[in-house]
Amino acid sequence: MILVSSCLLGNRVKYSGGSNDNELLMRYSHYLTAICPESAGHLPIPRPPAELQEGDGKAVLRGRAKVLNKHGEDVTVNFLQGANRILDIVKKNRVRVAILKANSPSCGKDMIYDGSFSGNKIDGEGVTAALLKENGVKVYSENELDEDKLQRIIAMNQEE
Ligand code: SF4
Repeated sequence: MILVSSCLLGNRVKYSGGSNDNELLMRYSHYLTAICPESAGHLPIPRPPAELQEGDGKAVLRGRAKVLNKHGEDVTVNFLQGANRILDIVKKNRVRVAILKANSPSCGKDMIYDGSFSGNKIDGEGVTAALLKENGVKVYSENELDEDKLQRIIAMNQEE
């Protein structure tokens, strides 16, 4: 099983109620399993955007940072609950690979928004990306994939 951020597969689950259609991933969707940590954490669609404050996803997992939405409401519990629900899927299905949406406070693997809601990005990972990486899942962002690489990932996953 290869997990993929649901919004990349055309599902309208992002905070705005829209999606982040990725043409390549959508063509291979029959090999992929859609997950959305924020929906899994019982956040509604649409919802106010949220950003990590005072640290990245690793810090949130250790209780040293939090997630606030644009209205100042603390949604850290939802983000942690969603991440742990995705980890349950990982454990039950021995998932080794996930392809997660770049820059998201849940799914981002290399960069996240800086907490100021001004569009600035900083190095860091989202809460779910951090939890999956800490549990041995190889995480890619959609920006790291071309068709050859995706085909290799799918083939390797089928051999396991
Ligand atoms: S939590 Fe991840 S899958 Fe869900 S909308 Fe945000 S980026 Fe997409």
